[in-house]
Amino acid sequence: MSPTPTICAISTPPGNGAIAIVRLSGPGAIEITDGIFRSITKGKKLKGQAPNTIHFGAVYDRDEMVDEVLVSIFHAPHSYTGEDLVEISCHGAQYIQQRILQILVHQGAVMARPGEFTERAFLNAKMDLSQAEAVADLIASNSKAAHQVALQQMRGGFSNQIKDLRGQLVRLTSLVELELDFSEEDVEFANREDLAALIENIRSHVGYLIQSFSLGNVIKKGVPVAIVGKPNVGKSTLLNALLKEDKAIVSHIAGTTRDVIEDTISIEGIMFRFIDTAGIRETSDFIENIGIRKTYQKVGQARVVLLVVDARDKLDIICKSIMEIQKQIRDDSKHLILIINKADTVSVEEQKTKFSKKTLSCLQSNEDFILLSALNEAQVHDLAMKLVEKINIKPLEEQNTIVTSVRHFDVLQNAERALLRVSEGLETGLSGDLLAQDIREVLHYLGEISGEITTDEILGNIFKNFCIGK
Ligand code: GDP
Repeated sequence: MSPTPTICAISTPPGNGAIAIVRLSGPGAIEITDGIFRSITKGKKLKGQAPNTIHFGAVYDRDEMVDEVLVSIFHAPHSYTGEDLVEISCHGAQYIQQRILQILVHQGAVMARPGEFTERAFLNAKMDLSQAEAVADLIASNSKAAHQVALQQMRGGFSNQIKDLRGQLVRLTSLVELELDFSEEDVEFANREDLAALIENIRSHVGYLIQSFSLGNVIKKGVPVAIVGKPNVGKSTLLNALLKEDKAIVSHIAGTTRDVIEDTISIEGIMFRFIDTAGIRETSDFIENIGIRKTYQKVGQARVVLLVVDARDKLDIICKSIMEIQKQIRDDSKHLILIINKADTVSVEEQKTKFSKKTLSCLQSNEDFILLSALNEAQVHDLAMKLVEKINIKPLEEQNTIVTSVRHFDVLQNAERALLRVSEGLETGLSGDLLAQDIREVLHYLGEISGEITTDEILGNIFKNFCIGK
């Protein structure tokens, strides 16, 4: 087998910062760095220095000084990757970062693939697979709740439970398998009642985790919100006002599943994601077929639908719009909020008489209306608070485990199906060999979550979504 290559990458975000970090990991990390680094103390080499120490000096390309740097060294196995690891902190110019990478590659390092540092950490048993995945989530987390869930998962909360249940099942299964060796003698080493109880326990746990995914998905990706309505009612104005509401974080993230830019905001620690807002701005005609189709798509994906109308519109026109959207909402978990915008253009007297639960009788009992002006900061703030109230996500408790990964969700569903077969098998007194086969399947799926069972395909899929340098 060829020796493990030493990988290198820039681990700080692209662009010019005050400082940047170039990271190397692998058996040659320290020696390769020695080849380009001259310590402030003449003749001092990094090799032989104590681990977890920082050294001041400069990076040279032959005789040309490239930058003054600080070099941190870590020794295997006590590093992030479990290998010898070096972090070169240089000045943040992209030119310097790239130059240092080039010199390192020239010295024998190879460029890291996306996520390769974390992949190595996993392969060297520094963390299990769901912890490695949590690193990616942690880096991407942009709301309090997402951060909390990722941190909890990285500490192992989620996979420890699975590992524990899986361990119990392995012990009982080995007893069932032992029976197979004595198949002539009709013995039962594995108490079927204990086995049934354990399977029930795992089933309820797996069931809980599967259920938690709908919340996990919302936490990780944000509550999907659609803003719909006819042209010129003030949808864009409202969206911009809401985005400004988020004083802490306004971010534009590329949608993971579709190729669109989505606006997300965090209100009271909950992330809201406005669906395909680029589309809203482009399609100016709600009446046009294409406009309607787009609206339907948005409503289909949303958990909250904000239907915006103009306060000057006639009531029957408003009701028609409401019913149009109601037809599209067949799911109880969706919320419709009617936004009667441009309240400033209608006298307070008229507002009172024109809009009430009675005059807006086409609204269903669980649907609200809000009279506001998108130009009025305080009123938009009230709407933001209303959104949080509607979604009603309870604060997460420390010990709450929540599934946020589609991969885990899929695997858990497979496990659930296999568990059901085991339960049925136990009830009908299925023979030991068939039972063992179903249980092995359960073990397989549970193992896939923590990474006790992996394939190159699974690993490849997980780590390709990381950034380079992670
Ligand atoms: P969209 O086509 O639904 O996205 O509508 P826009 O957000 O582009 O708004 C259309 C026009 O209405 C713009 O001139 C806005 O400035 C104006 N507008 C939006 N909200 C309000 C409001 O609350 N009051 C008033 N008076 N004008 C508004």
